[in-house]
Amino acid sequence: MDMFVRWAVAGVSSLAAVACDTPAEDTQSAAAPEPGVITVPAHEASRYVVLVGGTPIGAANISHDGNEIAIEYEFRNNGRGPTLNEAITLNEAGYPVRWTIEGASTFGNAVDESFSWEGDSASWRDATGDGSATLNGAAYYVPQNASPYQLAIVGRILLNDDDRTIPSLPGGELRLTHMEDLTLSDGDRAIEVAAYALSGSSTSPTYFLMEGEAFFGVVSPGFAVLAEGQESYDELLRSRAAEYGASRYEDIQSRTAHRYAGPVAVTNVHVFNPATQTRSDRSTVIFEGDRITSLQPANQSTPPGATVIDGAGGTLVPGLFEMHAHLGESAAALGIAAGITSVRDMGNNNEVLSNLIGNIESGRVAGPRVFRSGFIEGRSPFNSNNGILVASQDEAVQAVRTYAEMGGFHQIKVYNSMDPAWIPAVIAEAGTHGLRVTGHVPAFTDANAMIAAGYDELTHINQLMLGWVLDEGEDTRTLLRLTALKRLPELDLQSEAVQATIQAMVDAEIAIDPTFAIHEALLLSRNGQLSPGAVDYIDNMPASSQRQARTAWAAIENDADDLAYRGAFEQITAALTELRDRGIFMVPGTDLGGSFAYHRELELYQSIGMEPTEIIAWASQGMADYLGAGDELGSVTPGKYADFFLVPGDPTTDFKDLKTISMVVADGVVYYPAEIYPEFGIRPFVDAPEVSEAE
Ligand SMILES: [Zn+2]
Repeated sequence: MDMFVRWAVAGVSSLAAVACDTPAEDTQSAAAPEPGVITVPAHEASRYVVLVGGTPIGAANISHDGNEIAIEYEFRNNGRGPTLNEAITLNEAGYPVRWTIEGASTFGNAVDESFSWEGDSASWRDATGDGSATLNGAAYYVPQNASPYQLAIVGRILLNDDDRTIPSLPGGELRLTHMEDLTLSDGDRAIEVAAYALSGSSTSPTYFLMEGEAFFGVVSPGFAVLAEGQESYDELLRSRAAEYGASRYEDIQSRTAHRYAGPVAVTNVHVFNPATQTRSDRSTVIFEGDRITSLQPANQSTPPGATVIDGAGGTLVPGLFEMHAHLGESAAALGIAAGITSVRDMGNNNEVLSNLIGNIESGRVAGPRVFRSGFIEGRSPFNSNNGILVASQDEAVQAVRTYAEMGGFHQIKVYNSMDPAWIPAVIAEAGTHGLRVTGHVPAFTDANAMIAAGYDELTHINQLMLGWVLDEGEDTRTLLRLTALKRLPELDLQSEAVQATIQAMVDAEIAIDPTFAIHEALLLSRNGQLSPGAVDYIDNMPASSQRQARTAWAAIENDADDLAYRGAFEQITAALTELRDRGIFMVPGTDLGGSFAYHRELELYQSIGMEPTEIIAWASQGMADYLGAGDELGSVTPGKYADFFLVPGDPTTDFKDLKTISMVVADGVVYYPAEIYPEFGIRPFVDAPEVSEAE
């Protein structure tokens, strides 16, 4: 999903705009509102701009009429984004008592949400259906799809609440934490803003800013939403958000990362061997620092002074490789809890990712080893804003050189808005630096052309299959690359065109990164029904995740759409079965932030004929070899890095056992998911193993 944050908003010009209205101190002296009565400060902005990596991509317009608020909100990034219209009525205490939201979500699903609260009864309707509650006191309704201006509303309520904690609907509670005060100045005038963290509405807090009780904006490392006239503070405030995140994850790391001194013995385990795809007899694995030192029979004594972790007959599995990440700090930490000790990043805000990798390698925060891709995208009205944007072949070739000079990049990844004519030169230049090339199929060409041009790998199964169903001139930079999948049920996979492409892939030994699970979510998620990929973990998740897992991604207008998208997923499964049977190499990645989605990604490959043992070997040693790191990673072998995890069950017989993890060792640091998950509002799945000092 190319890293979208739900709270995106808006930008800035010179300060003047604010100054001439009402200098801040004036507002302070304005008549103080009656106790318990919350009002919108006169100097609050009425327009906010969405910025991604500093580029304006949309806006929110806010109008007030007494306690009535009307909001128009839209942004477009990478050819997609939400369009929403909201109408809100507040009571005197600033709580929404009526809220309607209409429009469309990022992937096109219709939004028709409403909330009302009268007396002690509240009711709402969102994409998952109807809900209601009897209230004994105030509660804040957390909308499923809303503009970030809701932070202004809930922010003012929490700022006026004694313990800055309030109950929320459909469930849970919201907490406000003051992060810091900031003085923003462009030399003419200084603005005093305070940064806050809102927690409880999803697995990670949201950071936003208030100028007194006026909403100033919301920030994340790659995104900023700021009152119009304040864009010049985008970079500063995004770097503050990165710091808030890093310090939060640093806290989590200090509570959950166990660095045991001396040798550590993991006893009573069956070690999965990717080479033989079998489990060992009961054994003991010993590691010290970041390296595995020995594997020994269970009856052999452990080294004196060793820390002993009792595996209680469970299975030790080599660390897994998420091959389609857009890594952020949350996915980094939750990935570790899911046994993902290495990722291949497929495009990011280069600076934000470098910062995160630095924090992971220094041990400041939890996270995987990262194999990077140099993301190159053409400038267009639909372009993504990751990586390096280019407007000519020369710039594209120069971008390859830039990544080669930066070093540490495994490959080049090209994207939708690249001009197909530039690709041969990009591939030639990449080759001179030993860089592989993968990517989407640029708009207005097809997979056949990219295979002929020399791609080493194709990204996303839809990018391959669209070439068989699109007409000349159709533009895949838009949501068409999703909606055109409705044509797949008519496609004959044995047809000459399809077979010719597959043969070309065989001849060119090109690989593919299907991202199977995101296609399942895109094509099979339906409003009010639990998404098939979420069944095994959803009950342990916070309310917002439970809601999201019962919401359609695509617009399912009628039964024909429903059937067409279900048929499309069957065709994707059939095509992947054919590719596998023809020996085409695949790599497992989610494009969904890893963690639980990665377990689902792997699980889905059983539906194309892969056995659990084959899948685990492929996702560990197979990917380590593919990334050229097979000597150091990929199996539980003395001398290799200590990257593995413990499951109480036996995933070689029942793949689902792989999803219940009691311990993870990443680069020699020991983690217990039972300690990590509560930090994200997730209920643990299994207790940590017994740990004791050796005699
Ligand atoms: Zn992606």
